[in-house]
Amino acid sequence: MSEDKLPSRSENYSEWYNQLVLKAELADYAPVRGCMVVRPYGWALWENIQQGLDRRFKETGHVNAAFPLLIPKSFLEKEKEHVKGFSPELAVVTIGGGEVLEEPLIVRPTSETIIGYMYSKWIKSYRDLPVLINQWGNVVRWELRTRLFLRTLEFYWQEGHTAHSTADEAEEETRRMLNVYADFAINDAAVPVVPGMKSEKEKFAGAVRSYTIEAMMGDRRALQSGTSHFLGQNFAKAFDIQFLDWNNELQHVWTTSWGFSTRFVGAIIMTHGDDQGLILPPKVAPIQVVIVPIYKNDAEKGRVLETVTRIEQELKNFRIKIDVREEVTPGYKFNDWEMRGVPLRIEIGPKDVEKGTVALARRDRPGREGKSFVPQAQIAAQIAEMLAEVQSSLLERARSFRVANTHDVTSYDELARVVQDGWAYGWWCGSAECEAKVKEETKATTRCIPLDQPEGSGKCAVCGETASQKVIFARAY
Ligand SMILES: [Zn+2]
Repeated sequence: MSEDKLPSRSENYSEWYNQLVLKAELADYAPVRGCMVVRPYGWALWENIQQGLDRRFKETGHVNAAFPLLIPKSFLEKEKEHVKGFSPELAVVTIGGGEVLEEPLIVRPTSETIIGYMYSKWIKSYRDLPVLINQWGNVVRWELRTRLFLRTLEFYWQEGHTAHSTADEAEEETRRMLNVYADFAINDAAVPVVPGMKSEKEKFAGAVRSYTIEAMMGDRRALQSGTSHFLGQNFAKAFDIQFLDWNNELQHVWTTSWGFSTRFVGAIIMTHGDDQGLILPPKVAPIQVVIVPIYKNDAEKGRVLETVTRIEQELKNFRIKIDVREEVTPGYKFNDWEMRGVPLRIEIGPKDVEKGTVALARRDRPGREGKSFVPQAQIAAQIAEMLAEVQSSLLERARSFRVANTHDVTSYDELARVVQDGWAYGWWCGSAECEAKVKEETKATTRCIPLDQPEGSGKCAVCGETASQKVIFARAY
């Protein structure tokens, strides 16, 4: 193991991340620059993320559908902010079946336009509203600087697109889905995100208002982890989505869109990981418990595996893996599963068989501190309890880390210093000039205007003018 150890997280965070993604077999580089191959272990993690979100989407009344990958180029041009925002990142298909196409096709960077087009056909009356559709799919944005999961040319995500008869209802939907994202991130992934609003400068191209959940990574940078947009009537007007209201008058609908992507795999890695590798929250971990049998000879092996098989049966409701590899030592296996972030490890040797116990090791507490011996009786109940404890302690640790590295700032000097190695939380007058000055001089951007705001007003940390809202400034991925 030692010859291919991970780089230290504190010394070279960026290399630690890159190598961990490869070594844990989450993803690999594709032959096309900037694309990624999601490997089975990474995809299993994504599937658990999908399930956690999809369940919540359905509980809030949404249904899934699938829209095409290719979009006529003219569609993108119908909403002028939208096309301005996405033009530099578009992949365009000009030849199909050996012929130059009459109209070039865009590989979708997002689907507001094509879905807007379809909604204009489907929505005729107030009785057709609301429309609450989500799609799971992939999109392409021609990014120049890419990193596995965090920013890739093609990525996987879900995009929800809804249409409503009133602005209030659409705004309510936008906030509801932001809360769904926050609930998932906090309770399933143990990532303590801050929900808030994006500034004018940082909002989605074509939106009236954008909301985001922002997470602090282990290097104290921010990662935008999910966004929800109130689109007003911008796309409804561009695509002529109209309905007859209760008074039989024609009106444009109000739409929303919201997205959550494989980028969040990066958030999980960078929120919880340590020098040994990944630490996966039990609720999303592809493998929750790994059992490593320990024996020196065939006689011991027979007895140990008999116990292992019985315990495997009792733990069948968990995502479990028995590591029966013969070619590597138990020590190697311990390191290997630690690197892959499995939350709990059970070791069973001849002594454990004799005593009716097992050794249990928690991934979130390395070494002796995380090790305990528990009786084999009622093992399932004990594992359930321990997994819940790991889940909540990961969230607590990440939350304390965020709190400890978020600092109130009252002056520009303070702000500029804090954002070099943490989040700055301070009053902001809302002007684009102050925002631009911070970005230019410190590389930090406004991450979000947290929904949870203090009473009253203060002085802008940048210009000193009166300000009515507090904002988080941070350097971000
Ligand atoms: Zn200001």
